[in-house]
Amino acid sequence: MIPVRDDVRALEGYHSPQVDVRVRLNTNESPYPPPDAWRDAFAAELSRVEWHRYPDRRATELRSAIAELHGVGPDMVFAANGSNEVLQTVLLTYAGTGRTVATFEPTYQMHAQIARIVGSTVVEGERQADFTLDPAEVRRVVDTHDPDVTFLTSPNNPTGLVEPPARVAELLEISNGLVVADEAYAQFADWSAISMLDEQRPLVVTRTFSKTWSMAGARLGYALGPTWFVSELEKVVLPYHLDTAKQIAGRLALRFVDEMDDRVRHIVAERDRLSAAMAAMPIEVTPSGANFILFRPTAVAGREVWQRLLDRSVLVRDCSGWPRLADRLRVTVGTPAENDEFLAALSEVVS
Ligand code: PMP
Repeated sequence: MIPVRDDVRALEGYHSPQVDVRVRLNTNESPYPPPDAWRDAFAAELSRVEWHRYPDRRATELRSAIAELHGVGPDMVFAANGSNEVLQTVLLTYAGTGRTVATFEPTYQMHAQIARIVGSTVVEGERQADFTLDPAEVRRVVDTHDPDVTFLTSPNNPTGLVEPPARVAELLEISNGLVVADEAYAQFADWSAISMLDEQRPLVVTRTFSKTWSMAGARLGYALGPTWFVSELEKVVLPYHLDTAKQIAGRLALRFVDEMDDRVRHIVAERDRLSAAMAAMPIEVTPSGANFILFRPTAVAGREVWQRLLDRSVLVRDCSGWPRLADRLRVTVGTPAENDEFLAALSEVVS
């Protein structure tokens, strides 16, 4: 065996079992496929692709469509293979050896993971017991470590909590570095930091097609930010990183905004139904502004509940072994039928 980099050896990698179950509520995907009309339009355009040519390196049409959706200029849009690749490109560009990245834990694991892989020092700020973020802790982390990149995830994964606008504003006020608002789930919440984007402000917002757009299988995400930020990322990302099919898939998806909004309204209503039903069981439920709910069974160990659900062919995310999340599980909102099945199984196994 060839010895790997010491810092890579110390890493654990991404764990999320892909097992065959009847009710799969573990990875925050949309429970609904994209509209049939999208499928047809995509197939029609695919048949005309010149496959012997490289894709449009600047993804001009896709970026214009995204820009129009958000009312920003196309030069403020950077797209990549899932928001994970967006995050990786941001960190390759603005973090790395000798630079510091701040997160507030518990949060999306890949922020710290990618930051470490690219060689940065990671500083982990702490959330309060209810997982909200104390402004004094934000100030402590920024004053002590002067991070080059600071992440705020809103709604936060895996807690589901929405970060108030004041938290982003305060962070921008005190920080000298880049502030990345990861908004993978923002359509399910009541506000977005996109309204705060400004050429003079080091604020970046990341989004994904994997959740509300029902396109996790396509791997497409993007960042919105100042034009100087997008220009730097374009130097770092690999040439032709976004294949032609994906550019078409994303551009066509944006023709179906109304359908997407309907799905979001429906999922939010189901989320609120699930939360209320779970709160009536021996379960502590964290309020969610996303398409998933973090919860802690109070009478049976979290890991045990996870296994008993799996025995009933219901798969949720087991967060119980993660730091700061003892006994917590996370369920993604599914179809009404899946949610009913989850609730029925849950009520059997939590007491
Ligand atoms: N950010 C957050 C907060 C997430 O939860 C996820 C997906 N789990 C991502 C980014 C990555 O999403 P994708 O790469 O599918 O766009």
